[in-house]
Amino acid sequence: MNIFNRLVVLLCAGVMGVFANQAQAKEGMWIPTLLSALEGDMQAMGMRLSAEDIYSVNHSSLKDAVVHFGGGCTAEMISSEGLLLTNHHCGYSQIQYHSSVENDYLKNGFWAMSRAEELSNPGLTATFIDRIHDVTQRVSDALEGLEGEALAAARKALYDDIVLEFTEGTDLTGGVVAFDFGNQHFLITKRTFLDVRLVGAPPSAVGKFGGDTDNWLWPRHTGDFSVFRIYASSTNAPAAFGPENIPYTPNHHFPVSIDGVEEGDFTMIFGFPGSTEQYLTSDAVAHVIERLNPIRIAMRDVSLAIINSARASGDALRIAYASKQSSISNAWKKWEGQTKGLIELNALGKKLALESDFIARASVSETPNVDYIKAIGEIQSANSDYFPYLESRALFIELVYYGPDVLLHAFKFADLIDDWDRLTESGKLEGAIADLRALNSEYARNYDASVDEQLLGGLVSTYLELAPESLVPELMASTFHASASSESYASSFFDKSIFDNPADLEALLLKGKRKQFAKLKNDPAFELIMALRAHYFNDVSPGYRAGSSAIQKATAIYTSGLRELFPDQLFPVDANSTLRLSYGKVEGSSPHDGMNYEPMTTAHGILQKYKPGDPDFDLPSDLVSNLKEGNWGRYGKDGDLVVCFTGSNHTTGGNSGSPVINGDGYLVGINFDRSWESTMSDIHFDESRCRNIMVDIRYVLWIIDHYAGASHLVDEMTLIDSDGQDAGLDDK
Ligand code: ASP
Repeated sequence: MNIFNRLVVLLCAGVMGVFANQAQAKEGMWIPTLLSALEGDMQAMGMRLSAEDIYSVNHSSLKDAVVHFGGGCTAEMISSEGLLLTNHHCGYSQIQYHSSVENDYLKNGFWAMSRAEELSNPGLTATFIDRIHDVTQRVSDALEGLEGEALAAARKALYDDIVLEFTEGTDLTGGVVAFDFGNQHFLITKRTFLDVRLVGAPPSAVGKFGGDTDNWLWPRHTGDFSVFRIYASSTNAPAAFGPENIPYTPNHHFPVSIDGVEEGDFTMIFGFPGSTEQYLTSDAVAHVIERLNPIRIAMRDVSLAIINSARASGDALRIAYASKQSSISNAWKKWEGQTKGLIELNALGKKLALESDFIARASVSETPNVDYIKAIGEIQSANSDYFPYLESRALFIELVYYGPDVLLHAFKFADLIDDWDRLTESGKLEGAIADLRALNSEYARNYDASVDEQLLGGLVSTYLELAPESLVPELMASTFHASASSESYASSFFDKSIFDNPADLEALLLKGKRKQFAKLKNDPAFELIMALRAHYFNDVSPGYRAGSSAIQKATAIYTSGLRELFPDQLFPVDANSTLRLSYGKVEGSSPHDGMNYEPMTTAHGILQKYKPGDPDFDLPSDLVSNLKEGNWGRYGKDGDLVVCFTGSNHTTGGNSGSPVINGDGYLVGINFDRSWESTMSDIHFDESRCRNIMVDIRYVLWIIDHYAGASHLVDEMTLIDSDGQDAGLDDK
């Protein structure tokens, strides 16, 4: 048996062994094809389905109702006519895209009262998983003995062959994905829909109630949902946006339970968790706490101060910077909580203890496992070379992708500036100019030069303070240090650049003169982005990639060793944006001494938090009166309406929007967050503390049906009451 085969056997045996002994499991985001090993445990906790009901390649199953939404979130199908639910924060950039000061859907919400009113979203995709197929054996047999470049080339060719074999002549796309640091390989085939329209969104006072103040916190009262519809061709196949498209009929849609959940009920979350880092070694955890998180937080402190004050100054900027602000502040706040949680839980001490136990166990037997014994040392020595590159990469991402928009916008002109002749010869010039005009006009919609200028000054200055000594981008440093202050650096930069002025760019594009574009080579924005990219690709990326590949190789041995040497413990595979299932139950937590979190919040809590005029806790007056009236209809229970609940399901970013499914396979909520005391769970999961936060489906339905008056959407769903009967609309 080769090393790969042995590792796979260990991984599966680990899952089986652990679950033979365990009454319930919470940690773990499980690969849907391995669920039969967990079926007994899930059924013991209250699931009344089989593993085959959840994931099957032979017939429709729950997986057919789960959608990778826009590549970063999850969504779920809730009608046979293409209707889907996801989070408000997942649809946020689309809601912003359609909003203006006159039609402020962010503030007031949006409801399409007919299909004709549904709004198209260029670039938005909805992807279904066709199948997940274990190809580990084939990959490991073919690659055995190969190293370095030869390994990389052979792996790529093999992956391409496998994908072609499974997708040729179909409308599927696919890829082979490495799991568990390369110990396993799965072919994943998918079908991606391109016409996804906005159907409804509550006002931000519902969908983002509590704002940044309540984000990552429990107790929570946020109706974090939005509604979209997938359209397909007349044969139900993916098609580019077109008025002739018809609503997509999914292979499965979730029945919606209007009975909701009780404390202790079984729940599962089916979605696309992004990434976790459960197998960081102790030195890497220390690095996250001491360097990486502080660097990232410092950069975002700067941008948030600027963007928050701009947004508070008026509606146009509030709308223009809504989505950018949210994506910056979301991770910023999580990193704060993560650092705190890692320290509080002594994650470092626990890792150190595990590592010394690991080495001790690997050393005791008559034939000590030398690979295992060496693994941690190898990871740590690769780490120490890798950390500066990791920090540099983080700074590059913060500046280029979350910083001033002028940089990436300038980069989009690179072909015109550097390659005019090639474009002309290949007949592509006109097309390139037309594309840039479209991009430029999109850019103009949300662009504010004064905010951008402040971002540049503040972030470049912070970047240079924090950059590892050996990895300072020279051009940026010299120009910056030649200026009297960060303000004067940014103001002279913006004075000289054209990329802060979409109208001038449009005029230039219309004229289409080669010489004028050639001159932009010296534009400070173009110069800086090209210099930053050169620095990144020449100085940072090689070290980063070499480091991560060395770490990955040694960690593959470490995780296999953990499963072999600690057979009674769970070592689930890290998340990697592939379809996973987590399960647990509805439960609260007691994260600190004397503190007790109830698992549910109700509508009267919304009124308790209501603060007129407060940006995070204000409410529209019609919502206040509706909440006061308390006319919950069939969505209420015991005179109140459950708004959110927490559970012990292991989730991470990417699980946003995931369906919360009860033991019968019915939808009871939408996952959207974790509690403050869980924010370290991507690195260190603690069963007693870690709780995911979900919005109760009855609150979602009440808002759609009662508050927004969009009952036609509820009519499309399959509502189920306590007897498992279709609850229809008649007994409303
Ligand atoms: N609220 C989270 C996010 O936006 C979801 C999570 O990480 O639990 O990524």
